[in-house]
Amino acid sequence: MADPIRYDVDLTDRLHHLVRVTVHVPADLSPGGEVVLSVWTPGSYVVRDYVHHVQWIRALDAQGAEVALTPSGGTAWTLPATADGPVAVTLELYANDLTVRTNHVDDHHALLIPAATFPFVRGGEDRTHLVHLPPSPAGHVVHSLLPAAGPDEPDTYLAAHRDHLIDSAFEVGALPTIDFEVADVPHRFVWAGHGGAPDLARIARDTTAIADAAIDLFDVGLPTERYTILCVGADEGGGGLEHRDGTVLQMPVRTFQDDALYARFQSLVAHEYLHLWNVKRLVPAALVQPVYEAPTRSESLWVAEGWTAYYDELLPTRAGIWTPRQLLDTLGATHQRVTEDPGHRLQSLRQASYEAWIKHYVRDENSPNVMTDYYGHGSLVAFELDLRLRAADPDADGLDAVFRLLWQRHADTPEGYTEADVLDAIATVGDDELAALADRRVGTPGPPALGDDLLAAVGLAWEDQGGPATPELGVRASDSGEGVVLTHVLRDGPAWRAGLTGGDRLVAVGGRTVGRGQLDVTLRAHPPGEPVEVTVTRASRLLSVPVTLDTPRPRRRLTAAGNAPSAAQEAFRRWSGAAWSSI
Ligand SMILES: [Zn+2]
Repeated sequence: MADPIRYDVDLTDRLHHLVRVTVHVPADLSPGGEVVLSVWTPGSYVVRDYVHHVQWIRALDAQGAEVALTPSGGTAWTLPATADGPVAVTLELYANDLTVRTNHVDDHHALLIPAATFPFVRGGEDRTHLVHLPPSPAGHVVHSLLPAAGPDEPDTYLAAHRDHLIDSAFEVGALPTIDFEVADVPHRFVWAGHGGAPDLARIARDTTAIADAAIDLFDVGLPTERYTILCVGADEGGGGLEHRDGTVLQMPVRTFQDDALYARFQSLVAHEYLHLWNVKRLVPAALVQPVYEAPTRSESLWVAEGWTAYYDELLPTRAGIWTPRQLLDTLGATHQRVTEDPGHRLQSLRQASYEAWIKHYVRDENSPNVMTDYYGHGSLVAFELDLRLRAADPDADGLDAVFRLLWQRHADTPEGYTEADVLDAIATVGDDELAALADRRVGTPGPPALGDDLLAAVGLAWEDQGGPATPELGVRASDSGEGVVLTHVLRDGPAWRAGLTGGDRLVAVGGRTVGRGQLDVTLRAHPPGEPVEVTVTRASRLLSVPVTLDTPRPRRRLTAAGNAPSAAQEAFRRWSGAAWSSI
C-alpha cells in the first residue's frame, strides 16, 4: 500500500492569526515532487488565490537538512529531482479572514478550510490523507467534518483521498455544541460566534425537522454517516458552504434573538442540508473531478443552486417550522427582485452559471444590469416547472419526482449529470414539451411565467399588496451611517436616464435633504412624470440633475386564490406540506 499523505497542524501562534502546516511528502513522491495550494474551494466559484496568505515555506529532509524548493505556476513548489527520502514541507499561513471559504484563527477559535490550508502532493491525490491536529490548551476541542483516524492515530482525522480532505472543514475552540441524531445518524451543531446565546435545543429540533423533510423528498434515506454544522458569527450578512458530510455557515451574532434572521438561518440550514443529495452526490458533470488550480465551469448551477434554493424555502414549510405565509412572501420577494434586475433580460441562466466565476462572485455597481442570479432566478424556474407538473398531474409529486429520478439515474456516478440528463428527466416525469420549455427558460434570457393561470394549480394567485406606492427612481440604495448611497442604478430606469450612476451619494431631492431612512417618503412627495431636481455627490463633485420619476411598480404578493377548488387546495397541501386554509 502506498504511504499516506500526512499533515501536521500547529496552532500555537493563533493569537497572531498564524497557522503552520507541514505536509509530509512520501519518499516515493519526493524526487521532483510538487506541492500545490488550491486556488478555490468547491461550492464557491471564484479564484481566491489562497497562496496570498503564505508567509513563508521551507522543506527539510528526514535528517533535518534544508531541501531547495522552486516556485512553479504561482501556487505550487517543486522539490529537486535529487530529493531523497521523505520531505517535510512547512508553510506558515496568515489566517484572519472570517468567511465560510477562508481561514480565521484567533484566541477564540480556529476555522480551517482545507483548500486554503493543506497543499496537496501531485501524484498522491488518490492516497489516504491524514491530518494531525491536537486539541489546544484551555479546553479547546477539535470539530472536524472528517472522521477520526482511530485509536492508533490519536488526534488525527482521516480523508479517503485529496478531494475528500478538500471537501471538509475544521473548527477548534471551547464552543457551544449540541449532538443529536437524525434517522440514527449522528449530527453535531457547533456555534463559533462570540456570544449570541444560541438556543441549542431549538436548533437541534429544527434541524431534525428540516432533515426529515429532506429525507422524505429524496426517499432514499440519509446518504451520510455523520453530519456536522460549523456556524461562525458575523456582524452582518451571512451564507453557507456545503461539504460532503456537513456544512460551514456564517450568520450575524444576533441571529438567535431576531425572528427574521432566525428564519433565514432555518432556510440556510435547509439549503445546505439539501446539498447532501443535490451537488454532493448528484453532481454536475463538470464538477465531479474539479481542477483546483484553475476555474472549473459548469452550466448546471441553475439546478445545483437554483433548485436547491427553491427547496430551502419549501423544506422549512414542509417541516412545519415556517408558515405558508413565510414561504409565499419569500417566493414573492424573489420574483420581485429577479424581475426588477435588468440583467435577467440580458443573461440566460445557463450563461449565469457558466460565468459565475466572473459575474456572480465578482460584483460591482453595474452587476444587476448585466447578470441574473442563478439562485433566485433558478428557484423561480423550478417553481414554474413544479407548478406545470402539478397542474398536469395533481396526484403526483411535481418537481420532487424529477429530483428522485435524477438521483436514481445519476447519484454517485463517475460521470455525474449533464444538461441533457436534466431535460431528459423532466421529459420522463412530464413530457417533451415541458423539457423544451425548461430548455428555453434556462437557455434564453427572460423571466419565468408565473401567472395566475399557473398558480391556480396549487390554489394560489397574486394580489395587490396595498400600502403607500413610491414613485420609481430605478435604483438600489444602501442606507447606512454614510447616508443614502445609490449602490446600483438600474439600466434604462429614471436615475439611469438622468445620468446618475452607481456609487453616487444622494444629498437632496427637490431641494430638500434626504437623511437615513427617508428615501421612500421623500420620493412619495413627487408625482411621477414630472421632473424633480436630484442632488448627489460623486467623489468630490456636487451634481444636480432633473429626474423624471416613473409610476410606482406594482407591489404584489402571493396569496390563496379566492375560489380555489378543493382539488387545488389538496395540491397545495401536497406541495407545501401545510393546509391551504392556513395561508
Ligand atoms: Zn448552495
